[in-house]
Amino acid sequence: MPQNKLNVLVVGGAGYIGSHMVKLLGQQGVNVFTLDNLSAGHRDAVLCGEFIEGDLGDAALLDELFARVKFDAVMHFASWIQVGESVREPAKYYHNNVANTLVLLDAMRRAGIQRFVFSSTAATFGEPQYTPIDERHPQSPINPYGRTKLMVEQVLADYEHAYGLKSVVFRYFNAAGADPDGELGERHEPETHLVPLVIQAASGRRPNISVFGRDYDTPDGTCIRDYVHVNDLCDAHWLAVKHLVQGGASQSFNLGNGNGFSVQEVIDAVAAVTGRTITVVDGPRRAGDPARLVADSSAAREVLGWAPRYADLKVIIEHVWNWEQKAVAHTEVV
Ligand code: UDP
Repeated sequence: MPQNKLNVLVVGGAGYIGSHMVKLLGQQGVNVFTLDNLSAGHRDAVLCGEFIEGDLGDAALLDELFARVKFDAVMHFASWIQVGESVREPAKYYHNNVANTLVLLDAMRRAGIQRFVFSSTAATFGEPQYTPIDERHPQSPINPYGRTKLMVEQVLADYEHAYGLKSVVFRYFNAAGADPDGELGERHEPETHLVPLVIQAASGRRPNISVFGRDYDTPDGTCIRDYVHVNDLCDAHWLAVKHLVQGGASQSFNLGNGNGFSVQEVIDAVAAVTGRTITVVDGPRRAGDPARLVADSSAAREVLGWAPRYADLKVIIEHVWNWEQKAVAHTEVV
């Protein structure tokens, strides 16, 4: 590792995973910069470093920033993430997740920035052909969101071949959890993810939790997912920066704990951790939900030395419950 402090740009650093990343980089002694247009992020979630309000599709702003700061790496978290919305409004997804990412990559190219860490998703795999899903699993996304992420993965391979851009791609399974210190957490508006929704049903901010289908081919009939703590995802990103700075090769990694929990098991775990009664409403299946998504993350463990610290679902839920009580109990739910 170079002796000088690293300069790292976190695009989308005011969002859920990005804000945890900014905090971790600050703790690691990195000169951290956040670029975020605050369309979904929160200014007060950026706990350290320099904050630049702006859009990753603004080439002039990027050129100016890259002329001012010599970045060792860029991390990119700024994308739209809702599967259902991506079906209804694909233009929004292709413009931001693909076209704006190209603007960022081309500005990096002009400035000679050669290291990139990209947030991709298990949704690039589509309907699983086998489980747990490793990196060799065919990628055949079944919705626009997954396709936008796969397109960028393909762009990155071509940009490395032609321009030498090195990248690490992480395909997250189900990001969950919150900062163990209670300073940060998930603040999506509207919230669509299972764990925070169940937590809000437990705290009383929501009247109930809907279970989207009980007729899946799983032991209790509800969908199985692999929940991975946001701080463990951030650890992987930091390892990726070090890997690239030390001259490591470009690679894609699946990130999950390798343990599947059903929707009902998540609800039961939240009830056990919080001691609250949770009202459950059975609803129809949500379109595009595979029955089971579980990661094989052995490559990240072997190549990057990734070792999740919060692999226990109970711990993930405790951190979200802590955040719910400390930080957002007074805010309106949308
Ligand atoms: N889910 C549910 N009720 C909700 C939200 C989600 O039953 O209010 C289910 C959803 O169908 C999926 C799982 O919980 O099987 C995880 O969904 P989430 O949206 O958190 O993440 P995804 O798996 O879509 O990335």
